Amino acid sequence: MTAHAIEADAVSTLAADFAGELVTPDDDEYEQARRVWNGMINERPALVAYCTGVADVRTAVGFARERDLPVTVRGGGHGVAGNAVEDGGLVVDLSAMDEVRVDPEERTVRVGGGAQWADVDRETQQFGLAVPGGVVSDTGVAGLTLGGGLGHLRRKYGASCDSLRSADVVTADGEFVVASEDRNPDLFWALRGGGGNFGVVTSFEFDCYPVGPEVETAFVWYPGEAARDVLASFREYAVDAPREVSALPFYAWVPEIPEFPAESWGGPAVAVLGCYAGDSEEGTDALRPVRELADPIVDLSGRMPYVELQSMLDEDYPHGRYYYWKSVYLDELTDEVVDKVLAHADDCPSALTTIDLWQLGGALAEVGEGATAFSNRDAAYLLNYEANWDDPRETEVNVRWARESVEDVRELDAVRGQYVNFPGMGEDAAEVAYGDSYDRLGAVNAEYDPENVFRGHQDVVSDE
Ligand SMILES: Cc1cc2nc3c(=O)[nH]c(=O)nc-3n(C[C@H](O)[C@H](O)[C@H](O)COP(=O)(O)OP(=O)(O)OC[C@H]3O[C@@H](n4cnc5c(N)ncnc54)[C@H](O)[C@@H]3O)c2cc1C
Repeated sequence: MTAHAIEADAVSTLAADFAGELVTPDDDEYEQARRVWNGMINERPALVAYCTGVADVRTAVGFARERDLPVTVRGGGHGVAGNAVEDGGLVVDLSAMDEVRVDPEERTVRVGGGAQWADVDRETQQFGLAVPGGVVSDTGVAGLTLGGGLGHLRRKYGASCDSLRSADVVTADGEFVVASEDRNPDLFWALRGGGGNFGVVTSFEFDCYPVGPEVETAFVWYPGEAARDVLASFREYAVDAPREVSALPFYAWVPEIPEFPAESWGGPAVAVLGCYAGDSEEGTDALRPVRELADPIVDLSGRMPYVELQSMLDEDYPHGRYYYWKSVYLDELTDEVVDKVLAHADDCPSALTTIDLWQLGGALAEVGEGATAFSNRDAAYLLNYEANWDDPRETEVNVRWARESVEDVRELDAVRGQYVNFPGMGEDAAEVAYGDSYDRLGAVNAEYDPENVFRGHQDVVSDE
């Protein structure tokens, strides 16, 4: 299938029944339209369909199916593996469907399938409310939620998918179905962590919680030579940390910006980014130990608007840079894990890279394993190798470094699974990413997408 496989006549016929914009390789907008956030991804779809609503989504999916075109779905375009676009395929782009409507009395919010977290935070914060999202504001609500969703509120209010009340879905045969605890509950179970394997989610309905408008945060950077002590002390702190605290220690290299002393620039460091989802005075006390793990290079902690925290990391992840992110879950942060992480950091080829240790537990672990497709709920940490680099000639060495680091750490007993939203390029078996949910996801796929039109974050194959 080439990028020019769709005849112009067919596109004109489609356009008559389609309210949004259609972009083919012949259009000036095509170069922009075929791109996603990760500069590594260089696919040439045959058609990008910018949908304005359910009608467009049904029309686009039907058109693709009549012609046997691969269908991909683009929510926020931040899928690290780039599955939102495919050579010769039809992209169901939802970016125009970004409406957000809060019901402050019911404490719920209705969110379009192409919204970003910034859209949701902006509206919900008008009422002092928030949905647990991710930590970068231009990430898509859809992909993040369908894969689980971990952010600054995770230990207090759970994963994004745990706040999902219902979803509107267009299935492969063009049916419109609502999924909730009461309606199509098997589909509802699968959407919460099972990736985009079952249809196009055109709208999400979430519960919201009182958060902000200001929150207490910790953001403190320690020298790399203190990393072992910092991580050992953090581990002790984490055992009894209140669930309001969600913290994320990460290994990094000091950015060359004025907030850091010039003599530290470019040197190795271990930083801890944390948030307290509750009363700010209590948060100051609860986060103090995180700020006293060693002598810091710099301590940027403080109280800030929740929306500012949510967008604080945005500039570190520009569109078009090269990215490869791959994760494992940890039962505990053992000395062996720390030894390996520090050795991998020593070998790391890019100073833009980070090695992240997401503290888990709290509300995440209180939802029963198997209650949603999102699994590994009892893990203590998520370890993510976030390889980031600018020069395409360094792609091979960076990808190899991240892959080999993951393979190496997988030898340890404390290590298992993978987070669907940090899947490398999706090269591992889907069983690794979906864990114990894999078989049941196959059964749901057989019911809602028997011809496997949607291949999601990572493909789940029908068991029939
Ligand atoms: C800068 C950055 C920061 C991140 N931070 C976090 C974080 O803090 N926490 C976290 O948990 N994850 C995080 N992630 C990972 C993120 O959750 C995934 O990359 C997620 O898939 C992005 O969703 P998207 O809608 O933007 O991506 P897209 O590329 O649009 O979608 C990814 C996949 O989701 C499916 N999909 C998307 N929209 C729909 C839809 N409406 N209906 C059906 N299927 C759909 C498709 O299969 C698509 O291939 C981050 C990623 C990036 C790039």
